[in-house]
Amino acid sequence: MKKLLVINCGSSSIKADVFALQSGEPVFVAKAFADRVGKSDATLEVKDAKVTLYSGGIGGLDMPAAISQLMAALESTGACKATEVSAVGHRVVHGGNEYSASVVIDEAVISAIHRMSVLAPLHNPANLAGINACRALLSVPQVAVFDTAFHQTMPPVATTYAIPSDLAEKYSLRRYGFHGTSHEFVTRECARRMQIRYESFNAISLHLGNGTSACVVRAGKSVDTSMGFTPLEGLVMGTRSGDIDPSLPFFLQNVAGLSVSEAESLLNKKSGLLGLTGESDMRQLLGRAAAGDAQAELAIEIFCARVRKYIGAYLTWGQPHAIIFTGGIGENSSEIRMRICQGLAHLGIKLSPAENQKLASQGLISADTSLAVYAIATDEELMIARETKRLSLLA
Ligand code: ADP
Repeated sequence: MKKLLVINCGSSSIKADVFALQSGEPVFVAKAFADRVGKSDATLEVKDAKVTLYSGGIGGLDMPAAISQLMAALESTGACKATEVSAVGHRVVHGGNEYSASVVIDEAVISAIHRMSVLAPLHNPANLAGINACRALLSVPQVAVFDTAFHQTMPPVATTYAIPSDLAEKYSLRRYGFHGTSHEFVTRECARRMQIRYESFNAISLHLGNGTSACVVRAGKSVDTSMGFTPLEGLVMGTRSGDIDPSLPFFLQNVAGLSVSEAESLLNKKSGLLGLTGESDMRQLLGRAAAGDAQAELAIEIFCARVRKYIGAYLTWGQPHAIIFTGGIGENSSEIRMRICQGLAHLGIKLSPAENQKLASQGLISADTSLAVYAIATDEELMIARETKRLSLLA
């Protein structure tokens, strides 16, 4: 059977999803996950839709060796034999100004991803390591699907920072946006469910996971999104601050004595829900708040208020057909959805408590009289598989 691999290579983890390539949609078969790559306690697991097929240690292996090991585990478990792989799709975080769509990877694409590492120093080099390792192991078309590509349709009013334009030009300092694959997946899915042509579909998409971002889609195109030059801007996240006064990092350095990299790490890795409460996981925080923890309660309210603020701002683009919740929190937490939508009736937004509270809400959760609000599970891997199938057939 012909199969596709979808690879998401991070700085210390590798996710590989196997899809069967059929005449219609690619169909999920199995996934492999390598964690803490490079460390002595690194692990590797292979699972199909139901059971764990393999679990073992890959301590001390570097990224290319870990990918070889992962491929060997997919082969030995029968989840995916190397001879079955007909294409590989790679999640690539930053495509800069150069890529507004997915592309088949060649030497020029590789050097572009490398060049854009300056914009995503943690992510692009890891994505490249995955691409290089897969190219060495498999002689099949490889496709890059960029997190930034969907947002390349944003107009200059949404992408331009009010800073000196010569400097912005010289260093490509602009708003790029991320989570594009997820925003595109759920807005397409929502348009399909509402039976509206995607090319005329308008929505506000709220991806609320560990990373969080909001996106406005008008006529099937991203016109604004809350993440900017980096994924740090916008909503409150698990460990990122989101919007702050831009002077704060200067104060942290000048007065609190932090170095540049300490300030950067503080805002990216030690802030957000974690910084507010010592806990980045929303499920835990909701438990703490329910038990009367005032700090957790305040953090949740700050998180929800920021989302509300963006909904308000994004309604200025015009009336959407729908507001969509997705990501681990958006898909699963009826309480967070309710808190966010509370008090928005004057904007035409009102949830149906019964529909919203159904476990694993998938679909319409708003009251009859409301602007449509949907909870839709995102599937970035399927989106990458679709793109890989589409482009590899042309390759
Ligand atoms: P990532 O951005 O890393 O892909 P996810 O999209 O999986 O993360 O989202 C992880 C977040 O979703 C965590 O904060 C987790 O607590 C939260 N989450 C998952 N299920 C629930 C739930 N039932 N209620 C509240 N939060 C949840």
